[in-house]
Amino acid sequence: MSEERSLNFLEEIIEKDLAEGTHDGRVLTRFPPEPNGYLHIGHAKSICLNFGLAKKYNGKTNLRFDDTNPVTEDTEYVESIKEDVKWLGFNWAEELYTSDYFDKLYEFAVTLIKKGLAYVDDSTSEEIAAQKGNPTEPGTPSPYRSRSVEENLRLFEEMKEGKYRDGEKVLRAKIDLASPNMHMRDPIIYRIKHAHHHRTGDKWCIYPMYDFAHGQSDSIEEITHSICTLEFIPHRPLYNWCIENLEIFPSKQYEFARLNMNYTVMSKRKLLQLVNENYVNGWDDARMPTISGLRRRGYTPASIREFCERIGIQKRENIIDVSLLEFCIREDLNKTSWRRMAVLDPIKMVITNYPEGQVEMLEGENNPEVEGGDGSRLLPFSKELWIEREDFMENPPKKFFRLGPGLSTRLKHAYIVTCNDFVKDESGNVTEIHCTYAPNSKSGNDTSGIMVKGTIHWVSVPHAKTAEVRLYERLFKVENPASEEGDFKEYVNPDSLQVISQAFIEPALADDFNPEHRFQFIRKGYFVMDKDSTPEHLVFNRTVTLKDSWAKEVKKG
Ligand code: ATP
Ligand code: MG
Repeated sequence: MSEERSLNFLEEIIEKDLAEGTHDGRVLTRFPPEPNGYLHIGHAKSICLNFGLAKKYNGKTNLRFDDTNPVTEDTEYVESIKEDVKWLGFNWAEELYTSDYFDKLYEFAVTLIKKGLAYVDDSTSEEIAAQKGNPTEPGTPSPYRSRSVEENLRLFEEMKEGKYRDGEKVLRAKIDLASPNMHMRDPIIYRIKHAHHHRTGDKWCIYPMYDFAHGQSDSIEEITHSICTLEFIPHRPLYNWCIENLEIFPSKQYEFARLNMNYTVMSKRKLLQLVNENYVNGWDDARMPTISGLRRRGYTPASIREFCERIGIQKRENIIDVSLLEFCIREDLNKTSWRRMAVLDPIKMVITNYPEGQVEMLEGENNPEVEGGDGSRLLPFSKELWIEREDFMENPPKKFFRLGPGLSTRLKHAYIVTCNDFVKDESGNVTEIHCTYAPNSKSGNDTSGIMVKGTIHWVSVPHAKTAEVRLYERLFKVENPASEEGDFKEYVNPDSLQVISQAFIEPALADDFNPEHRFQFIRKGYFVMDKDSTPEHLVFNRTVTLKDSWAKEVKKG
């Protein structure tokens, strides 16, 4: 955005740190996804924030895969995450993996044991939960809490060597069972998991817990500002406790409100269910709030960055209306996309006074929003045209400025036509409409003096190419599916995808075969050529309509 805005609270913190010379004026942030799914628009907020702050303050950002859970993680996800971050327009300083620190983290755990600050516990997870007590009553010590340092060292090493089964033992930090913060009541910091890891293979059978891996990874990388979402506020004392007791680089954690958006779900676990249970056609289905879904839908990186800039950074959670995201892509595509004509629900129009066999090549500008123009394309015009069925009405109401018996309208970039007649089939459906045109009404050179209020789009019948067109609605019927009763998947909108198998498009759209190219189909919305397209079979996805029809629907009730 061009307007000046005031600093957000993180910028204020960084400016203060810079002024005070903290970390020698260095700013190093990180984006730490767990590779257990594809990134979504919520992650985009975190990416724009972390990379944006570093950029603004001459710093750097690491991309760190937080891969401490071998069961859910996969290299497919690693690759998609890298692609998405790059696509959004950001470059990381280093590509790092928490799993690269497993040796170091193991040493850290040994250090804590040696300091008498960690112990091996044989209690079951239920017993540990019971020992923790509840926020108003202190916990009770585990019978294993007073094991000697030597015994703990031996048992922890045996855990690492694979002597024990999953869940048989854990390593716990020895902190404070009476702390009002439950995370400080001897949290588990290592667990046994005999599972193959996507990078370390079978080397390890013990894995650090998030709270033991995250802060230390920040510290190993000398991250200056470790930014996470609000739910980690209660984890901050533990984050600091680990760093202080290990006497390592003092990274600091800061929290901001996560992005919530209506008419969708935003958790990888839920998105994975939609994929696995075939509610959508994969992670990059154009209805998904994933970065790859938005890309497929036709969103641009700039529109997503603009959205993140507009929503800003807060300390309180709220729900952002998806129409703001749609506003951002409309703004962008209005300025950048070429205008083309496509008829999605065709009916044939015959211009009875236009010479049989004549073809005129008319000119249509590519984008009138571009100052000085953005070139133009040629539009073949002939006696028979496809127009939208909804642009003709047998009994038009007042103020219908398109076609009906006796009504005139302008054909975009072409002539004014007047409807005289129409043809119906046996079942009463209009199959063809007959018009006459005013030869002296050509766009740009209109001497007819006829005044019309409407303009409609069209495609010449003999020159039309065909395409499959996919129209999308909200993926969910309700604003906040995750908070509704029952399974969120019950609220999936069954009409979220409408496929038009044969739309008619102007030939210029087919001449320029280029998947991922974005267009405005005049009066129909913004569309992107889908990657499923081949030169013989074009597919277009509607990114967004031209106006916010949804907001109007809601108002009407
Ligand atoms: P999910 O619940 O969708 O799996 P997550 O927080 O577990 O999300 P991570 O891969 O751990 O996903 O997240 C990587 C980074 O992105 C974290 O720093 C996290 O705080 C941030 N992030 C995740 N979801 C959002 C969101 N909705 N808004 C802002 N930031 C988010
Ligand atoms: Mg997570």
